[in-house]
Amino acid sequence: MSQPRYSSYIAGQWLAGAGDHADENPADLDRPVGHYGVLDAAATAQAVDAAAAAFPAWSLSSPQQRAEILDLVGSEILARKEELGRLLAREEGKTLAESIGEAARAGQIFKFFAGEALRIPGEKLASTRPGVEVEITREPVGVVGIIAPWNFPLAIPAWKIAPALAFGNTVVFKPAEIVPGCAWALAEILSRAGLPEGVFNMVLGSGRTVGHALACHPKLDALSFTGSVPTGRALLRQAAERALKVQMEMGGKNPLVVLADAELDKAVECAVNGAFFSTGQRCTASSRLIVEAPVYEAFVARMQARLAMLQVGDPLDPQVHIGPVASAAQLDTDLGYIQAGHEDGAELLAGGGRVERPTRGHFLAPTLFAAQPGHRIAREEIFGPVAAVLRADDYEHALALANGTEFGLCAGICTTSLRHASHFRRHAQAGMVMVNLPTAGVDPHVPFGGRKASSYGPREQGRYAVEFYTTVKTGYTLA
Ligand code: ADP
Repeated sequence: MSQPRYSSYIAGQWLAGAGDHADENPADLDRPVGHYGVLDAAATAQAVDAAAAAFPAWSLSSPQQRAEILDLVGSEILARKEELGRLLAREEGKTLAESIGEAARAGQIFKFFAGEALRIPGEKLASTRPGVEVEITREPVGVVGIIAPWNFPLAIPAWKIAPALAFGNTVVFKPAEIVPGCAWALAEILSRAGLPEGVFNMVLGSGRTVGHALACHPKLDALSFTGSVPTGRALLRQAAERALKVQMEMGGKNPLVVLADAELDKAVECAVNGAFFSTGQRCTASSRLIVEAPVYEAFVARMQARLAMLQVGDPLDPQVHIGPVASAAQLDTDLGYIQAGHEDGAELLAGGGRVERPTRGHFLAPTLFAAQPGHRIAREEIFGPVAAVLRADDYEHALALANGTEFGLCAGICTTSLRHASHFRRHAQAGMVMVNLPTAGVDPHVPFGGRKASSYGPREQGRYAVEFYTTVKTGYTLA
């Protein structure tokens, strides 16, 4: 069977792009998922021009039309979730069950925002002046650039594209380099859903060329980015120069606190899931397991036993719990941090290296270190199946350790104490707090986002998405 060749989508046309780049399967490097061509800066500029040309009409389109289109997209994604999940598993490497779950979530997100298109909020207030009426309405922002990462190649684009379109914006979507197949699949579905030409565009290519051209285009009105801290900060600096509206989701170094009164088996499940599922490649991954001293040894022993049971391998194999690392570059980063753990004097508790499988792939054993708060593996985002356990003297110490990071995306606690759970929910310096749940795994209809170095700008998802994807107008009328 010939392999698919993924192309870009601009102004209602498919563009092959240059070159024949392999879309790698990280579990089987000898059998790529497909091939793709990349655009240059000039083609990217055309995509923004197309989106700008389509904006005036689309911004005045009927909410009912937008709702129907988004609902159609959501229905198709849901109907094809197994097939899309399979593509995702082969291209990004998360297990088939996780991949199908992600595809379903992408479908649900489109359906949620189909409803939101019909519920654009506004307010009417009495003026301080007699006879005057004040009306607060929301209007679309304009051309929205969407720069997405590879770790949720269907769900993250969905939670940016769906609200952008729902509220009447036009879109140029730039996916991460290593997931062109999922981006193409999403674009292909959107291309048949009844959107006018130029309303949705998808551009394949490198961050440096295509991403840069998109972010710097003068006709761009807003930029939603999810990715690494260095890229996010660079984009933020550029955006500040021209006062571009931005929304940034960057790194995390999420703590999961385990108190002595926790149900230990449940805490271990939260830790295993949060730290290692999806190969640890989630910005909400629990990469710091902060355990109160009385249960520290028991927790570590149970983690070691549990990790020994996890199968690493082909994500399409139903027996496998952890797929490969998504790319050679990410594997290098992960191995570099394992090395840093050894250099800093952390004690290896599980894993620690690559594992051989029948196919050539980026397989890495789930790796756990006993670390000190100053160790690099306990401070910096790794974005792989590598976690650090830290010992805490008591709850206050655990809370201080949990908050002792530049990041603030998600924080979790396992406890049976209502007092500690309530205190932690209030005092954790994070945008999301989990009690007796893994730090990763969020609902699609409520706000997602963090504090400190993790996030910048309005929240994503749920009703709160309206903040970023619309702009407020205050109208005064003397009747
Ligand atoms: P990662 O290291 O996980 O790939 P990045 O932040 O580099 O994270 O990538 C996230 C997204 O940002 C990708 O779509 C990537 O192509 C894009 N990107 C990378 N560099 C730039 C840049 N200089 N300008 C715009 N986009 C970029």
